[in-house]
Parts: sequence; structure tokens; C-alpha cells
Amino acid sequence: MMKSYTQPDIRGHFGKYGGKYVPETLMFALQELEDAYTGAKNDETFQNEYHTLLADFAGRPTPLYFASRLTEKYNRAKIFLKREDLCHTGAHKINNVIGQMLLAKKIGKKRIIAETGAGQHGVATATVAAKVGLDCIVYMGREDTRRQEPNVNRMKLLGADIIPVDSGTQTLKDATNEAIRDWVTNVRDTFYVIGSVVGPHPYPMMVRDFQSVIGRETREQLSQRQISSPDYLVACVGGGSNSIGLFYPFIENDSVTMIGVEAAGYGITTQQHAATLTLGTPGVLHGNLSYLLQDANGQVMPAHSISAGLDYPGVGPEHSYLKDTGRVRYESVTDAESLDAVRELSQLEGIIPALETAHALAYLRTLLPDTTAGETVVVNLSGRGEKDLGTIFKELHYT
Ligand SMILES: *Cc1c(COP(=O)(O)O)cnc(C)c1O
Repeated sequence: MMKSYTQPDIRGHFGKYGGKYVPETLMFALQELEDAYTGAKNDETFQNEYHTLLADFAGRPTPLYFASRLTEKYNRAKIFLKREDLCHTGAHKINNVIGQMLLAKKIGKKRIIAETGAGQHGVATATVAAKVGLDCIVYMGREDTRRQEPNVNRMKLLGADIIPVDSGTQTLKDATNEAIRDWVTNVRDTFYVIGSVVGPHPYPMMVRDFQSVIGRETREQLSQRQISSPDYLVACVGGGSNSIGLFYPFIENDSVTMIGVEAAGYGITTQQHAATLTLGTPGVLHGNLSYLLQDANGQVMPAHSISAGLDYPGVGPEHSYLKDTGRVRYESVTDAESLDAVRELSQLEGIIPALETAHALAYLRTLLPDTTAGETVVVNLSGRGEKDLGTIFKELHYT
């Protein structure tokens, strides 16, 4: 059964979520961006440049890989991996950055700012800024600069300025606060490249659209294998961009079960997790209304995840809507389970996944026993694990 899905509305609401909760000074920039984005959809020069960069610079299409040994292990549904880890810079982030950077150029902004957690969005932004010749400043929590040092070094080499952020938990939320502060101050000449489906409208819609190339390619690649539609789609959820990118092109197809996997950190019965949709309540953070980890007074609570890219107390507003409507199921996986999944995929398939991605992979242990041999599961392999080797080695006690 198909029903039509038309989110967000004209003002950027996904049901009651989303919107533009920003200081007045940013309203003009958001309108300017929305106009540029709307115009770019029908601008042949923009579209050509965008698709050429996706193909020749980012390396698209990425393969849809049949994980035969992982499939054998569970002996149920066939497991396919959408190889976003093979994108230039090592994760799906670059799909969105290329789109936003071309919009920045079109609007005529000279200075690029970005926030980053795992450093993957910062690296993608620094990379594309170098390619198009724009100045790039990346805000990153001090704690994240420590656990993702290889990415800090990559950004420096690419010519970006890294600003370590010492406030709060020194992670992604705090880096985002600083980036927004910079944006408010320098909005005239500055373009804020947001790394996930978060922030004020039009970002959640725009980032979803840019990442939807993942789901469109997946559908095409399945059909080349005579699979008309997958039965399950699984992806990890930090802000929610790689998951919505995979899900969105299938959203009207009710026969597809979609599962977003959040970080349960040390466990959802502890205070140390990032399971925003599982345990949060609606509130405003970073320009939109969405599920949020907050205390009884509305103070944002610190999140915890072993993976810097999932260590965020908020989530994109569209996921909040998809949770409430029941269209997408949200589950969570602990630090320990995700580490196990890193080792498993490395040794069964010869692919070292990012710790973020490993959360989606770890959920297969719960999901696969409920599937049957004729069914198809697609996991979004959002990124590669090189950046996490330090953490992984420490935690798995290799020497
Ligand atoms: C940033 C990142 C994520 C989390 O962000 P989403 O917006 O939820 O996709 C997941 N995986 C990797 C590899 C990342 O770099």
C-alpha cells in the first residue's frame, strides 16, 4: 500500500516538529538559503556541477555489497551493505557538503563555518572548501579533538582552522553552540554548513534531500538484482542524516520496515547514553523543536556514546515525526555491543566500520532471527573505521 508523504510543510514543520527557533538576525540568511536552494533545484548549471562532483570527486555511486559471510552466519535474510564508507573522506557526510558548498558559492558567501563531532563532517567540509577555494573554520569539542585526532590532522592539512571548544561536555552540542554564535556574529559573509538533518528550516529538509542519493541508488541497485523492494532498512542515528538518506526514497512503501539505531552508551538504564528518541522528550535545541535529552527544568542533559558522531542529545525533527507516526522504529545499542560489531564485520567481511556505523550492524543480532531466507536487509555502512582505531584498540584491549 502506498500513501503520499509530504513533509515538511512550507514553514518547515514535520508535524509539530522542526521550525525556525533562531534569533531575528538569522532569519534573513535562512530565507536567502531557502530561496537559493529552491532555485538550485531547477538550475541546470547547478545540478550538472553537483552531479559531476558527486561522481568524480565523491566517488558515487557507492557499491551495494552483498555480505555473504555475515548472511551465512545468521542464515536468514540476505544482508546488503550500502558502502558510504567508500565515499571520498570516508563517510556519507560529503554528499551533503557538496550540495551546501555549491549553494554558498551561488549566494556569494566567502567564509565557511562548520561544527563537527567525529570530525567526519569537518573533514568533508574542509575538503570541499579547499576544492572550491573558500575559507573554512571548524568548531570541534576539545574532548572530540582528542578522541578523533587523525581527523583533526586531516583538517589542518586541508587548510582549515580548527577551533577547539571548551564549554559544556566539550563535544558536538558545544561545538554547535559556538558555530551558531559565530554565525549570528558574522552572518553577512558567512555560510554555515550544517552536518546533519538538524538546525532550523530549511536545513533538515535540504540535508535530507542531498543525502537521499543513498536511498535512490540503493533502490536502483536492488532492482538490478531483481529485488523490487527491500524488507528492512537499518541505519544508525546521530542527528539522523545517513538514516533519512537511506529511508526517504522508500518512505511511501509500507512493505519496507525501517529501523533507526541510536547509541545506548553504557545502557539506557544509566544516565550515560545518547538514546534521544528512546528516552527523550520534545524541546528546542539548535534552532528546531525535536526530541531531546533534557531534565525536568528543560536543561539539556549531557549525552554519552563511545562514538563521537552519535554523542549528541538532540536528533533531527523529521525523525521525531517518524517516531510519533510509527513509520520508523527506533532501537538502541550499547558501546560494548557496537565494539563487538566492529570486530565481527572486520573479521567476517574485511571491512572495518566506523563506531557510529557499528551501532546499526550490532542491531542485526536482534533483527536477523526474526527474518526469513527470502527477505532482504540493507544496512547503511555510513563510514569507515580508521578514525576510530585508537578508541577501538584501547577498548578491545589489543596491544
Ligand atoms: C556523522 C556520522 C554519523 C551520524 O550522523 P547522522 O547525521 O546521524 O548520519 C554516522 N556515521 C558516520 C560514519 C558519521 O560520520
